[in-house]
Amino acid sequence: MNVKYESTRDNNLKINSSQAVLKGLSDDGGLFFPKDFKNIKINIKHIEDLNYKELAVEIFTKFFSDYTKEEILYSVENAYGNKFDTEEIVPLKNGGNYNFLELFHGRTLAFKDVALSILPYFMKAAKDKNKIKNEILILTATSGDTGKAALEGFKDIEGISISVFYPEGGVSKVQELQMKTQEGNNTHVLAVEGNFDDAQTAVKNIFNNKNVKDKLLDDNTILSSANSINVGRLIPQIVYYFYSYNSLLKNKKIKSGEKINFVVPTGNFGNILAGYMAKEMGLPVNKLICASNENNVLTDFINTGTYDINREFIKTISPSMDILISSNLERLIYMLSGGDDNYIKKIIAELDEKGKYKIDSKILDKIQDSFWSSFSTQDEILNKIKKVYREYNYIIDPHTAVAVDVYDKYKHETGDKSVSIILSTASPFKFIESIYDALDIEKTKEGKELIMEFSEEFNIPIPKSLEEILNKPFIHNKTIKINDVKNEILKIAHKEEKNV
Ligand SMILES: *Cc1c(COP(=O)(O)O)cnc(C)c1O
Repeated sequence: MNVKYESTRDNNLKINSSQAVLKGLSDDGGLFFPKDFKNIKINIKHIEDLNYKELAVEIFTKFFSDYTKEEILYSVENAYGNKFDTEEIVPLKNGGNYNFLELFHGRTLAFKDVALSILPYFMKAAKDKNKIKNEILILTATSGDTGKAALEGFKDIEGISISVFYPEGGVSKVQELQMKTQEGNNTHVLAVEGNFDDAQTAVKNIFNNKNVKDKLLDDNTILSSANSINVGRLIPQIVYYFYSYNSLLKNKKIKSGEKINFVVPTGNFGNILAGYMAKEMGLPVNKLICASNENNVLTDFINTGTYDINREFIKTISPSMDILISSNLERLIYMLSGGDDNYIKKIIAELDEKGKYKIDSKILDKIQDSFWSSFSTQDEILNKIKKVYREYNYIIDPHTAVAVDVYDKYKHETGDKSVSIILSTASPFKFIESIYDALDIEKTKEGKELIMEFSEEFNIPIPKSLEEILNKPFIHNKTIKINDVKNEILKIAHKEEKNV
């Protein structure tokens, strides 16, 4: 089957998967989506015995139909061959009654590694097969984890360079350390005065700015995106939903065909959307539980049908979920409206104008069939970290703690006893300060010493990729104003500054 991609804002558009990977975002501002998604199915009985890499190949072959088998195999081998510290890639662990799917075993210790380890290979292959001679500049706004994972994925990939913009003071110490020490001759990292939404909006505006794009072209540069709007990121995330289901089967926790829940700490709605796609493809899913922090715009949306960003942006201890505009939601509504691009344009116009829209009640019903949502406050997050450690001797990071807390609320409110998987999205090493707060441990050390102390205290070895950067110098030290994002990008393309 040759799968073409359309835009959520123009379903007459028809491009190949490799072109969708290259472009990231459609020119009309929409997101790419496979035209015949409803025909992409997986027979779960046929994949039960596949290892992670085999399963990834199986799924990618269905979505990336203009890639050759060799290109897919090469990409999978490079991404999942030796960049993760466990052959399983995403091990399923027990913490008492909870099943934790540890998605943080890649180079940057967050779930985004799963997709961002492979996206650069898909993009390089797409560049070659579409005979693109321009240099590709990846623009990424990050709330902490995407940036580092993208930098690691794209570093030293020929013909592609990457710039990352993160909110100054809006990321954790380890995240900052990871980005400031980033090596690679094609990497650029800039702190921006503002929050994540400001940074994301500034970057999104560049993609829609013809003037800037023309200037970039004069420097032989075209833009692409590594944010979770790229289909090359979305689709790799589908794999671990199927894989973790098989892990439960292997551990005899469920019978084949039994429906389970997934609990997903959610920000940009990319991870959980991949779960919904897995469900539509045939994975037996009961509910997808959308766990928010105090920026609970999605919780309100799922419960009321109104998406309303007219609210204060709150800086929380789960910064990777500090988002008010969840880009990938557009894809869900597009699917549930039966691919109605006019409807999407209408609600996006309302969002631009009034900062809110109300969804059609038929679509809301469908959303509530598949999703359930609640949110956690800071105290609730800290309490959950403490409880899970005290009761099960297992340390979770604040994002995972949001998921645990919301899952407990779900069970309490619904009484549902289906087996559930909690997506554990970051290593505790990325958020030691919050874990100390949760466990009432006084923080007397900083940086490297703190990391070593944490490792000893809880008897968890320091991940190798973190150990490697502990003694590295800061390479990227620049902070810019939101209004300067555009000029910095032009400078980078013009190669005025090699390493800003
Ligand atoms: C990015 C991120 C999330 C949110 O994922 P989305 O796909 O944006 O919903 C949650 N937890 C961590 C640790 C992350 O890095």
